[in-house]
Amino acid sequence: MVLSMNQEYLKDLKNCQLCSWNCKVNRLEGERGVCRAGIPEIAYTSLTSVLKSYSMTLLGCSFRCVYCNAYRISQYPDSGWMYRGYVEPEDLVQEALNSFETSLARNIGVKKISFTGGEPSIHTPYLEEVVSRMKEIIPELEVGLATNGFSTHKTMKRLVKLSSYINFEIKAFDDEIHHAITGAPVKPVLKNAEWLVRKHPEKIRVFRTVAIPGINDSQIPKIAQFIKDIDPTLPYRLVGFRPHFMIYYHPAPSKSFMQKLVESCKKQGLENVDYSGYYPSGSVYMVHNGREELKIIYNYLSNVGCYRMPRNCSSCTEKDYCPAIVLEPWTNLPKE
Ligand code: SF4
Ligand code: SF4
Repeated sequence: MVLSMNQEYLKDLKNCQLCSWNCKVNRLEGERGVCRAGIPEIAYTSLTSVLKSYSMTLLGCSFRCVYCNAYRISQYPDSGWMYRGYVEPEDLVQEALNSFETSLARNIGVKKISFTGGEPSIHTPYLEEVVSRMKEIIPELEVGLATNGFSTHKTMKRLVKLSSYINFEIKAFDDEIHHAITGAPVKPVLKNAEWLVRKHPEKIRVFRTVAIPGINDSQIPKIAQFIKDIDPTLPYRLVGFRPHFMIYYHPAPSKSFMQKLVESCKKQGLENVDYSGYYPSGSVYMVHNGREELKIIYNYLSNVGCYRMPRNCSSCTEKDYCPAIVLEPWTNLPKE
């Protein structure tokens, strides 16, 4: 692909090292890294009342999380769903500006933009271009970002520069469980989290973890301790898992399960902990043993055709034709 003058901002994609996989592929010439992304593509845009923002959802992700509730977006294009595609930054900016003027946006009070996905950081040059063009028109614009924290340090610095606040997700603390849940190592995530807190605490909106009974119960107090050791006042939010993707038939957490997890985090000395989401008749079952959790996760993985242990999507020979990207998750009945 020959870049036109106004697409020069995509040059980093010719030798992509935006995330810690460091694939060094030319995404503009059809080569694909672990994220399988080419040029930045938009799934859709939407107005959100919680964040009061115009949200831009980008396709593709550096992880293959077993529980992903947006797997058709994160695992694009292998999920088989068609989405909007590449949008010139100037067009996206104009759409956002037009959207700010709608009666719905005015009623909600939308004045900022946010990037989500998928994993928006795999498209950092595109985010920068959109933000810089929009700030030419609204210099005080606020920009939110949701990330899995797997960027390289260099990319992380760029993300901090372009965003006003960051929702940073830590999916597990122990490396072997992080590998099992996401297909990726945890070290870059924890390193970026610590760097962000120490250097740019003002940018942290929240740390969050999706709480999955029997899969990462043992991890949540460890993540709480990790955060507390840096700063006990940092906000930590637990999000109740909803069954999806590779663990479609796994039980969701009950209210008391979520409350117990919050208490276990507070016991670590973390002050600002809360949760959102639970299932009315959900599971109260808790596992505090990482070995047992690993067994449960790898059982699910083998059920969808992933037999790598430890699971590492970068070194896997099947990464370009991953059997675990199940198109209709509900057809994947658990083994009796
Ligand atoms: S996985 Fe990361 S390094 Fe590899 S192509 Fe995607 S963004 Fe680039
Ligand atoms: S089969 Fe390979 S690429 Fe697919 S989820 Fe398993 S380790 Fe990752």
